[in-house]
Amino acid sequence: MRVGVVFQYGKDTRYSVNALVASLDKLSRVYVVLAESEEELLNTAKAIAKRGDLCVVAYSLLTTMLPVGNYYEKLRELVKLLRDIKCITIAGGPHVSGDPLGALRYFGFNYVFIGEAEASLRNFIQALRDGLDPLNVRGMAYLDEGNNLVFTGREKPINLDEYDPFPYWRRMVNPIEITRGCPYGCHYCQVSYLHGKQYRHRSVEKVVYYVGKVLELGIRDIRFISPDSLAYGLEVESRDVDLASIENLVLSVYNVARSSGGRIYLGSFPSEVRPEHVSREVVNLLKKYVANKSLIIGAQSGSERILRSIGRKHSVEDVVEAADVAVKHGFTPEIDLIFGFPGESLEDMNATIRLAWRLIKIGARIHLHYYVPLPGTPFGMKKPTPIPYEVKKEIWRIIGAGKGYGDWLKQEEISWKIVDLHEKGVIQPKQSKAPGFIT
Ligand code: SF4
Repeated sequence: MRVGVVFQYGKDTRYSVNALVASLDKLSRVYVVLAESEEELLNTAKAIAKRGDLCVVAYSLLTTMLPVGNYYEKLRELVKLLRDIKCITIAGGPHVSGDPLGALRYFGFNYVFIGEAEASLRNFIQALRDGLDPLNVRGMAYLDEGNNLVFTGREKPINLDEYDPFPYWRRMVNPIEITRGCPYGCHYCQVSYLHGKQYRHRSVEKVVYYVGKVLELGIRDIRFISPDSLAYGLEVESRDVDLASIENLVLSVYNVARSSGGRIYLGSFPSEVRPEHVSREVVNLLKKYVANKSLIIGAQSGSERILRSIGRKHSVEDVVEAADVAVKHGFTPEIDLIFGFPGESLEDMNATIRLAWRLIKIGARIHLHYYVPLPGTPFGMKKPTPIPYEVKKEIWRIIGAGKGYGDWLKQEEISWKIVDLHEKGVIQPKQSKAPGFIT
């Protein structure tokens, strides 16, 4: 049987969908279509079904997508329409991995994928194509006849070197994922719970290969995806970086990029760095090879109490030192700070405001965020703390001085809407038993 797979393709999830498309594209008797609107998706699914092929419609979901414009309601209706025309509906991504039950019970997906899906989705599609039982595939969950969640078991973490990060043969590329997984497990962040706590790095040879593919398409800005760009080469949590591995990576990429007029961006969007990894040696090294003028440093709070409660494993002074070192070597530090953590007091927020001004005096800019409860994380069930008026006034002073920016107000709105989605039953994580939760 031939299988037609339609991906819902939007800006929020395109990098992860690109990696999945790359893992399916080379399968025989399988074709992949990307749909950018609901109408396109439905029409494509109908055309596949009419042709007599097996239709699979796939979504990658972020929790923050759900409340925007009541997307959760539209999605539920669409899944029903797709099931009515006998398409198999599947979903994965950070939200679904943290809340498989809600994805199955509320949205009505046939199957969900937990954690990274390059291998499990490919195995699933192959099983459908070959008429085998797809329920033997690991990394998936579904509802049994009693409406209970059945998890087929975790799939082995993939070796990044065995998978293309994007389908460059379709002229589709994005920042190259150099590292996956993070040992820190910060309590509000989905990375460690989605991809595991073991660092996995793409080898320098493979990174260079994909840099070549990006350059061949005429793209000159080379960017990377990593939970911490300065963790390249590390195996476990460490305050020291692996300078030799970082140098090997950056120098190798630089040598390839230079001949085509390419520019390297490392430690800037879309990856940040942990503050304790910013040292004189590493910044000196970056300075020689990268084009970015800023370094994005995750600080999150100016309160030692909050840093401990969210599991950051660095101190406020680590952040100040990182900003100082960055400025002394010609980078503008852009510091991420988050307000509204569960249990955050006025005193904690004031400590963050004081840290912000201290960093601004050094030469930093502040990237302002509001805490968002994400399913699958230890804080996934915890409500945000409202920001008191006097703290908001201080935040506006920072922005007014031209030293702060960010989507903190939009995130505040989304965060409380997510709380509401728990109450409406759209999100139904069973935190202690959720298969997406890796310890
Ligand atoms: S916030 Fe950064 S360091 Fe913490 S778990 Fe997420 S990716 Fe890792």
